[in-house]
Amino acid sequence: MNVAVIGAGAAGTSAAMNLALGGHKVVVFEQFERGHTRGSSHGTSRITRHTYADPYYCSLAVEANREWFELERLAGEQIFVPCGLLAFGDPNSDWLKSAIAGLVQWEVPHEHLDARQTLERFGIRLDAGEVSVFEPGAGMLRSSLILRLNEAIAAEHGAVFLYETPATLSDDGRVNGEAFDAVVICAGAWSGMFAHLPTVPTIQHFAYFAASIEAPVPCWVEATPDHFYGFGDYGRGFKIGLHRYGPRFTPESDPELDPAVLDEIGRVAVRRLGARLPQLEAFTCLYTTAPNEDFVLVQVPNHVPVYLISACSGHGFKFSAWFGRLARRLIEGEVSPSDFPRFSPK
Ligand SMILES: Cc1cc2nc3c(=O)[nH]c(=O)nc-3n(C[C@H](O)[C@H](O)[C@H](O)COP(=O)(O)OP(=O)(O)OC[C@H]3O[C@@H](n4cnc5c(N)ncnc54)[C@H](O)[C@@H]3O)c2cc1C
Repeated sequence: MNVAVIGAGAAGTSAAMNLALGGHKVVVFEQFERGHTRGSSHGTSRITRHTYADPYYCSLAVEANREWFELERLAGEQIFVPCGLLAFGDPNSDWLKSAIAGLVQWEVPHEHLDARQTLERFGIRLDAGEVSVFEPGAGMLRSSLILRLNEAIAAEHGAVFLYETPATLSDDGRVNGEAFDAVVICAGAWSGMFAHLPTVPTIQHFAYFAASIEAPVPCWVEATPDHFYGFGDYGRGFKIGLHRYGPRFTPESDPELDPAVLDEIGRVAVRRLGARLPQLEAFTCLYTTAPNEDFVLVQVPNHVPVYLISACSGHGFKFSAWFGRLARRLIEGEVSPSDFPRFSPK
């Protein structure tokens, strides 16, 4: 089939790779230049974990991780750094209790540590009375490398990537006037251009800090409503971000750093890592937030099959390879969006 993919982020490049590996003729339309930083997939690192308060995502992560090992096999490169994930906070927090219940339910190896053990082993500072759970099988995905590898493998199998080429879709299945047998839309924060969706784009922040920690720092997340999260130092300093949804953002405008949010992140960097201020670098990034922090998968009415996939809500990167394979299964008629009611917008 001749398939158009709109968007060359984590989901779009993975869809293109899987479709090209399946022998389909693929053209990818991306409105910005290769490696742009205006969407949701830029930056060097993303967390992958099974530690989820929602057991549905804990189980989905079991499947999704298999796709990353398949990409490593195909590419002959390490894309997953198994540094583990530390989740910590008040032992009575519902999030931490549900996450632990999910790890137990899906038999995911994990350890419980108190504040002293956490500091000694991982260099992360907990308040008195806080506890942590360590998931050794979690870790860091090398996100920018993954996008490059998805594209390289897709191109090796005939896919064409058109950068700086904004795409419009007409009712007869034409993209920019060119006819296709099917279309896969992976437009992230711009998905609302193609379908009426309950998603809201928001501005998010992350920054890098200098700190003197000998211990191997894993990926980490606070079990609090804000969910500050972080990574070890891979040469740019310790990366810390804030999962709490930021202000609404219109994708057409230029995102600006908010000093108040950077101050908040800086305070956590000092509290948890003993980091030095100010931050070394700071960046914005877009979330596409859906109700219930779920993902979005819909069929868009059109003359040809059109599927819209949004691995979103600030936790979709780890599932982007799984969605990439799903794009091929949808196009080949093996499954349909109704098989995934969780992703049907409410
Ligand atoms: C700061 C931050 C930290 C995160 N941390 C994690 C994490 O640790 N773990 C995790 O699993 N997830 C994480 N996420 C979420 C994850 O990065 C996203 O869910 C994922 O990258 C979404 O990928 P995407 O391909 O759907 O969107 P995008 O990467 O935004 O791709 C959409 C692309 O479509 C293009 N496009 C849109 N409209 C058009 C058009 N009309 N024509 C052509 N091109 C178009 C856009 O330019 C864009 O490149 C994080 C996100 C952010 C912002």
